[in-house]
Amino acid sequence: MKISSRVKEIQESVTLALNAKAIKLESQGKTIYNLTAGQLPYRPPQNFLASLRQEADFLKSYQYSPVAGFKDLRKKLIDYVQASRKIELNNDLYDCIVCNGGKHALTNVLGALVDPGDEVIILQPYWLSYPEMIKFCRGVPIVIEADFYDHFCPPVDRVEKMISSKTKAIIINSPNNPSGISYSQEWMKKFGELMLKYPDICLISDEIYFELSYYDPKPSYFYQFYPQLLSQTIIVDGISKSLASTGLRLGYAIADKKLINAIEKLQGQTTSGANSLVQRAVFNFDFTQIDEYLNPIKLHLRENSKNIIEQLRDRGLSSLSYQTDSAFYFLLNFSKTPYAQLKLQTVKQDELTGILCSELIEHTGVVVVPGESFGAPLTVRLSLVTPTEIFKEAVGKFLDFLLLKNTLQKDVQLDT
Ligand code: PLP
Repeated sequence: MKISSRVKEIQESVTLALNAKAIKLESQGKTIYNLTAGQLPYRPPQNFLASLRQEADFLKSYQYSPVAGFKDLRKKLIDYVQASRKIELNNDLYDCIVCNGGKHALTNVLGALVDPGDEVIILQPYWLSYPEMIKFCRGVPIVIEADFYDHFCPPVDRVEKMISSKTKAIIINSPNNPSGISYSQEWMKKFGELMLKYPDICLISDEIYFELSYYDPKPSYFYQFYPQLLSQTIIVDGISKSLASTGLRLGYAIADKKLINAIEKLQGQTTSGANSLVQRAVFNFDFTQIDEYLNPIKLHLRENSKNIIEQLRDRGLSSLSYQTDSAFYFLLNFSKTPYAQLKLQTVKQDELTGILCSELIEHTGVVVVPGESFGAPLTVRLSLVTPTEIFKEAVGKFLDFLLLKNTLQKDVQLDT
């Protein structure tokens, strides 16, 4: 069978290969510290679980939902977004579509917007699925560079320089995966100001980590400063992160009615409506309880974020440190560490992160995600959801490895 070029061009997930290696080593008795998790390792809120159980008794939970989702749930989601983002969404202008996860909502949005050759701007570091989704829709991802020295957020004038007559959309992801930061209010305001000049460019705001902000201020968005931008904005969110429910697959998009109708048309011929049982349970869930549920989780994320900063400082690596404030990741730039300096004498820069991740598993059992797939060379992503004691130990081993400290590291030196 001949596979389509569209699919052939999709990058394979690098994490899968690393996880396979970790699983193999674990089965051989090696202690593995898996810092790759993109989900919270907790049970969802109790009352949400109770509602799921209760709804499991109803026939309607097993039947098709309307393609765009149950009307009362869509209204509830719009109300939640209005209240939590402190914005007003006129019922006559905006609508919501419920999809099978945030990822599906994003793919639908791009599917409904992007024509072949259209450019979609993404900001480094970006969630690894964006370029693949854009290319699948025959669009062209345009990457705006930003690295550690830009605080993982490209200056707005750099974004402006890359806008062209082909720009169809810009994807903003704040709180950000993989950097674990929210873009500042100043940035959002400046970005909003710029976008007022481009009413035809769609602004896709991926807010899947909105609730997981563990330092004040809460994430802010360009449309809060300039509500007129809402007419060109698509807000994407879901329950994967905020209700620790990645497996239930429920996300949604809120946007101009015309776009939601177009997505409904697409969804109607592809996946149909999202899971009825989960939709009904989410409808019953009181969203004002999210904070109470997430508060202890946020403390945990804060603790691990503080810990990594302390361990960097204790090892004289403060220059690699920065303050994360949301989502659940830390992106570590290792380009200036003794490990990188030593290795770069013999291996190519674009191969180094993969080599580090692989050697790290073998020598220390620590598994991290290479930053290349997020458009962030010479970085790795660590997940802060790991239990604190294990996290501390893993980070210690990892940093010592980068400092060529532990004895096993000598093997690495000899290898080079
Ligand atoms: N957007 C970002 C930035 C993410 O990190 C993820 C998941 O990891 C998603 C969207 C999609 O989440 P889901 O499809 O589980 O709702």
